[in-house]
Amino acid sequence: MKTIQMVDLKGQYSKIKEDVDASVLEVLDSTAYINGPKVHQFQKNLEAYLGVKHVIPCANGTDALQIAMMGLGLKPGDEVITADFTFAATVEVIALLQLTPVLVDVDEVTFNIDIDAIKKAITPKTKAIVPVHLFGMCANMEAIMAIAKEHNLFVIEDNAQGIGADYTWSNGKKSKSGTIGHVASTSFFPSKNLGCYGDGGAIFTNDDDLAHIIRGIVNHGMYERYHHDVVGVNSRLDSIQAAILDIKLKHLDTYNKKRQNAARAYNKAFKNEEHIVIPTGRDVCSGICDTCDCHVFHQYTLRILNGKRDALVKHLNENGIPCGVYYPIPLHLQKAYTDSRYIESDFTVTNRLIAEVISLPMHTELDDEQIAFIAATLKNFINA
Ligand SMILES: *Cc1c(COP(=O)(O)O)cnc(C)c1O
Repeated sequence: MKTIQMVDLKGQYSKIKEDVDASVLEVLDSTAYINGPKVHQFQKNLEAYLGVKHVIPCANGTDALQIAMMGLGLKPGDEVITADFTFAATVEVIALLQLTPVLVDVDEVTFNIDIDAIKKAITPKTKAIVPVHLFGMCANMEAIMAIAKEHNLFVIEDNAQGIGADYTWSNGKKSKSGTIGHVASTSFFPSKNLGCYGDGGAIFTNDDDLAHIIRGIVNHGMYERYHHDVVGVNSRLDSIQAAILDIKLKHLDTYNKKRQNAARAYNKAFKNEEHIVIPTGRDVCSGICDTCDCHVFHQYTLRILNGKRDALVKHLNENGIPCGVYYPIPLHLQKAYTDSRYIESDFTVTNRLIAEVISLPMHTELDDEQIAFIAATLKNFINA
């Protein structure tokens, strides 16, 4: 059996090496390292793939979130509601911009931001909601957009883990994740579903005016050369990374299918286990049927109900199976983000999930033999 890895970037690269190398060499030959034609080409191809009017490339997914919030003109003291159970980048940029983060609980089935908790958290100061499409499945965007409309709020989708996923509306219509809110951010960190070979990110929007504002912000607040109209940042996707991403974008749907196939095999192995909860959606199949892309499995995350999660992590590692706990500490209990207004009873789901979740190896190169070994090792331990 091949060594099991959490992500297998080398195996994936070896299959597209010729194309990637040629594309990178083109950049080296052209010396167009910054904002070269490859960046524009990738931007256009990603716009077409997503069916979104504007993609604005930038340096990483955290910048993308920050720039999206700057573009919306949010002001210090404005309250921004986001999920307690996510990567810290989401809340970090809210705090950096001196906005007030308002963390709320998540749904125990989908791991995504809880709709009733959003409603409860809205005050006259609330200006935006940041749903995170955690682990690769969209948050309940239909409900979130309805709340935003009613209260006149912006919706910023953190799509770092969901690129390529479909969101299915109650009328059956589908939209790509990251094209539904007023603006969205994504990350091209190497292990993400569409990853480059360094850092990268992008902002998406269908709003022409907002796209114009954001294009200036990423470039030192310049709309005309050496005229700085607003305080901006320097955040660029470099041409070499764009050259790699443009090749990999052609494979994104195939890559996501491979992740879904691995998830389906895991689900089959774990579905009748008393102490294990497999990832599912609420109103959608969550990507486990053969025909939809509701879930693109950035992570394959189980809940372990019999208190053996920590021992299981150790056992898997001892048997050559890497795994992860995303995330081990709720954001509302992180030193940087505590707030005297938070009440523990408002975070019952997150507080439980952090002790139950385990993410198994998930990538495009997993094979049946590895999955069978992982499943058998895990089940034997949990049921022992
Ligand atoms: C990875 C990630 C980010 C940050 O992306 P970087 O490119 O690492 O800055 C933000 N939000 C979520 C949910 C992520 O998973």
